[in-house]
This record gives sequence, structure tokens and C-alpha cells, in this order.
Amino acid sequence: MAKTRPGISGTKPKQGKKDLDSYTIRGTNKVVRVGDCVLMRPSDSGKPPYVARIEKMEADSRNNVKVRVRWYYRPEESLGGRRQFHGAKELFLSDHYDVQSAHTIEGKCIVHSFKNYTKLEDVGAEDYYCRFEYKAATGAFTPDRVAVYCKCEMPYNPDDLMVQCEGCKDWYHPACVGMTIEEAKMLDHFVCSECSEDDVKRSQNGFHPSPVSDIKVEAKRQKR
Ligand SMILES: [Zn+2]
Ligand SMILES: [Zn+2]
Repeated sequence: MAKTRPGISGTKPKQGKKDLDSYTIRGTNKVVRVGDCVLMRPSDSGKPPYVARIEKMEADSRNNVKVRVRWYYRPEESLGGRRQFHGAKELFLSDHYDVQSAHTIEGKCIVHSFKNYTKLEDVGAEDYYCRFEYKAATGAFTPDRVAVYCKCEMPYNPDDLMVQCEGCKDWYHPACVGMTIEEAKMLDHFVCSECSEDDVKRSQNGFHPSPVSDIKVEAKRQKR
């Protein structure tokens, strides 16, 4: 008598399975393709949707569609938790793969590179960005170092308004240089305290500071 080992039922020959190039999200006319990013319904409906990248799509003989996905993690799902410099739309591309029913796909989204995200005129609900890869088992990030700004030496959070010093070109949080956000928005020019000390020294030595360029206050917007 043939015996089946427990746990082996999932490794049946792939009879009647078919790779799919595209899948239409149930109840919509939105088409998902391999490589697209999607929002997937969490089992706990109080949670925000999961975000994943579709790696492969497959239909069985009864037309049940399964998708192989690579998960994006939200900062709060990472081992280190959400940090101050993490933006509201920040995601980490994880090394965590899964197979899910295509029925859990509820929409499409776009995960931008950090640079492209900061250039967006408007951030829509479907816009996210990723600047780190994340190892789910260890909590390690790649790259493990990023540029830091301001006196507080923090990586850039695109949700926060910063002002650029015309001297050193570094960016500052208004609060870190003793300003309110409203005051920062009214500024035509900004020179940090270190650079204005340098200016005094320079003018005492008979040098004129270089002509100031146009407004450097950049408001980074955020919509959820
Ligand atoms: Zn700061
Ligand atoms: Zn400066």
C-alpha cells in the first residue's frame, strides 16, 4: 500500500498548473503583472494592507490563482520599529517571500526609489518609497549607512520640512535651529549659525560673502 508522508501533499507534480502573465484584481478592471507592487488584504482588517512585489503568478486546473510575492515591510513591522527619520510612506524590501491566493490582492501601488519619491509633485495614496533592503531574520538593513543632515545628524525624512543653509548647503530642521515651521516657510534665505560666524570672520578680513541664490526653503509634502 502506498503511504503518503505528512507534509508532502504540497509537492504533488505540477499537473495543470500554468504560469500567468497577468491577473485582473477581483471586482476591478485593474491588471496586475509580474514585477508589479500590490496591496494585500491583511487577516486582521484593522491593519493597513500588506505591500508586496509579485514575483510569479500561477493558475491551477481549477483556475485558482496563486501569487509568489516578496514582502515589503513597514517600519513598524521591522525589528527596530519605526524611527524618527522613517517617512509615513516608507517601506523596506525584505528577503521574505510567500505564496498567497490572488484573492487577497486588493489594489495596486507604486514603490518609488527614494530619489524619485522626493521629486513627486503630489504623493497619492498609492505612492510609497523604498531606500533600504531588510533582512527579516536579523533586522539588518542595506545600505547600513545613509547621509545624515542637520545638527541632529538624522537621515532625511521626506515628510519633514527642512531649510538649506546657503553657506554649507546642509539641510536643517526648523526646530533644531530655533525656528517654527511657519517661520521657516516665510524665509527667503537661511544661513546656519556656523556659517554666519564664518561670514563675520570673512567680512572682518575684507571678503564679501558670495551673492546669495534664490529661495532654498523646500517644503516636502505628505499626504496619506
Ligand atoms: Zn535636526
Ligand atoms: Zn551652514
